[in-house]
Amino acid sequence: MDTHNLIKREHTRVVRVGRIKIGGGHPVTVQSMTQTKTKDVAATVRQVHQLEKAGCEIVRCTVPDIESARALGEIKKQINLPLVADIHFQYQIALEAIKQGVDKIRINPGNIGNRDKVVSVIKACQRQHLPVRIGINMGSLEKDLLQQYGRFGIARVMLESAARQIKICEELNFSDIVVSLKGSDVQTTRQAYLLFAQRYRYPLHVGITEAGPSWSGIVKSAVGIGSILAMGVGDTIRVSISADPKEQVRVAWEMLKALKLRQKGVELIACPTCGRTEINLIGLARRVEAALAKVDAPIRVAVMGCVVNGPGEARFADIGLCGGKRQAAIIKQGRVIKTVREADALPVFLTEVKRVLQEKGYIEEIAKIR
Ligand code: SF4
Repeated sequence: MDTHNLIKREHTRVVRVGRIKIGGGHPVTVQSMTQTKTKDVAATVRQVHQLEKAGCEIVRCTVPDIESARALGEIKKQINLPLVADIHFQYQIALEAIKQGVDKIRINPGNIGNRDKVVSVIKACQRQHLPVRIGINMGSLEKDLLQQYGRFGIARVMLESAARQIKICEELNFSDIVVSLKGSDVQTTRQAYLLFAQRYRYPLHVGITEAGPSWSGIVKSAVGIGSILAMGVGDTIRVSISADPKEQVRVAWEMLKALKLRQKGVELIACPTCGRTEINLIGLARRVEAALAKVDAPIRVAVMGCVVNGPGEARFADIGLCGGKRQAAIIKQGRVIKTVREADALPVFLTEVKRVLQEKGYIEEIAKIR
């Protein structure tokens, strides 16, 4: 595929979802979705709070019936995150969700019904100045588009499905649109996003849908979402793995950090170990990771097995540890500041991490080290 002439994230339109701006080069945001029954307000609010704590920036709730739609107003009152109502099949549910004060509506063109229904939803959003996500899903594409464009591939059908809804929006002078084109396979999804980014300036919500169980789903999401983001395309992301949604948020943040698109929390560099390793480096790296999991300060920490790459990596980190024979050297700004017995390595290293946080002014983060 010709990947020239892509409209990159700096040049997409800006769409506001509550207090968050998507597109136009604004930071790529992390979204997730609750797994509770939306009509169970207490459980949903509790999960939204957990997601917010994990780093979620926009939350979506499924709205399968009118009772769930009516619960959205109360949920909205009790949460801080912008709230998106996820609508399938019944446009009346979208109208009720809008009435309840949500911050964005997601519709699936593959099942929302005819043009008049879409027009009703768009006009209601227009009156309330709400954005709409046109959420194309590979598993629920319109049959007539499959017949018309299927020979060009599923990615093209996804693009044309989005184009059809965009045309309706544009005829109504409505441009607060975010689009997603999710498939469960990486190549189709990637192709759909790149085709879209060659044609439209609307911001993109990127994800691989139903990516799979935790381990394989993380890999598939990282390759899919990561490769799209790395092309400069994509303004907000959601990781759809079969796992606790807090895990989805964590994976999303790791992707953004790896691509240097956002900074949050500790970046931990650790070597894979080899025959040269003379300390329990894997155990130590895991304990350091667990100890620093709640720290939000953007510091770089290296935990390395030996002198081959240890001092080098530690030089680029705020604080580093380099294993030796049953001992470890603690390295700061390229200089060995301490050598400790393996048994003492973890507490001494964490003390030095605290010192780094203090020196960098992240005093409130020190208490988050476990
Ligand atoms: S840093 Fe040392 S122990 Fe770790 S993988 Fe490289 S050579 Fe092996």
